[in-house]
Amino acid sequence: MRDENLVVARLKEAGLKLTPQRLALIKILKNNKSHPSAHMIYQELKKKYPMVSFSTVYNILNVLKKIGEIKELTTSENKAYYDPNTKPHHHFLCEKCGQIQDIFQDFRLRTEKISIHQVKDHQIYFFGICFDCLKKVAGAKGQS
Ligand SMILES: [Zn+2]
Ligand SMILES: [Zn+2]
Repeated sequence: MRDENLVVARLKEAGLKLTPQRLALIKILKNNKSHPSAHMIYQELKKKYPMVSFSTVYNILNVLKKIGEIKELTTSENKAYYDPNTKPHHHFLCEKCGQIQDIFQDFRLRTEKISIHQVKDHQIYFFGICFDCLKKVAGAKGQS
């Protein structure tokens, strides 16, 4: 996600009126590294704007996605997570705490095998147990 004013300008171009709720949503997402779901963003926004509806949140996320200001991570069938960092990077998903962490390592894929297609984007997900959860497990074992 780029500078807030630029994002606002793009949203206006896309025909969206800029309400305080929408502006607050952009602020929540900006520099957010936690990869929140639409529901998490909705809960956060509701603290300040109790009247906001889930469809408002969902709609603006869709527009932000369309204009390329956020990326949608589709790691499970029924949940999408949103990432304001649109630079190429990968993700690690913890199956214990549900945390999604950024992985900035560069994995050189053998793209020659898919080069007959025009590849625009790719995402890699790693699944497992994060370092924090591993430490907790190790700590629990140490105590017994
Ligand atoms: Zn974890
Ligand atoms: Zn990310």
